[in-house]
Amino acid sequence: MRILVVEDDPDLLAQLAETLRGEGYAVDTAADGEEAQYLGEVEPYDAVVLDLGLPVIDGVSVLKGWRSEGHAMPVLILTARGQWSEKVAGFDAGADDYLTKPFQMEELLARLRALIRRAAGHASPILSCGPVQVDTRAATASVNGEPIKLTGHEYKLLAYLVHHPDKIVSRTELTEHIYDQDFDRDSNTIEVFVGRLRKKLGVDVIKTVRGLGYRMESEAGSA
Ligand code: CA
Repeated sequence: MRILVVEDDPDLLAQLAETLRGEGYAVDTAADGEEAQYLGEVEPYDAVVLDLGLPVIDGVSVLKGWRSEGHAMPVLILTARGQWSEKVAGFDAGADDYLTKPFQMEELLARLRALIRRAAGHASPILSCGPVQVDTRAATASVNGEPIKLTGHEYKLLAYLVHHPDKIVSRTELTEHIYDQDFDRDSNTIEVFVGRLRKKLGVDVIKTVRGLGYRMESEAGSA
């Protein structure tokens, strides 16, 4: 899952990026509204954390711009304390959730997990796909109840697939959602990660759909 964090306070931006990377997200950052606007238009984010008070273009205008262009990714806005009118403007512009500064990082993480899973149509933080379970709160996975040790990239790839069960996910789509902007992307490495995941989870868990990509089936053994 790939997240855009937009915040003009450099300390808070660095702290948010570091925390989110530590939780297994690919993270891009923007420190002003213009850069945010551009990134949100060209990159396929699974969620955005958007401060509203931003240089160049304010956060509400950025959000309105995205929504008017049809970009529907979940957006959590950060608002200043006591600025209830900001929250109203933010929701009216298309925000999905908000936090008031200062906030607890744990609450931000929980809200983001909820936004991402709801956007993909899941009610529970524990996602099941055949014999595989992914606990999005702990960034852990198990097969038939047995915990499996995964590297950061393996987890990112698996988490994306289980968020989108029964859907064919192309290598390009995986690349776009598990790497941040600065990563030296090579879609061949996706094959390597899938190979490693199959060794750990079982060969049939991730199906190859020839010429199109990969698929995890929500019911084991279904066609
Ligand atoms: Ca600000």
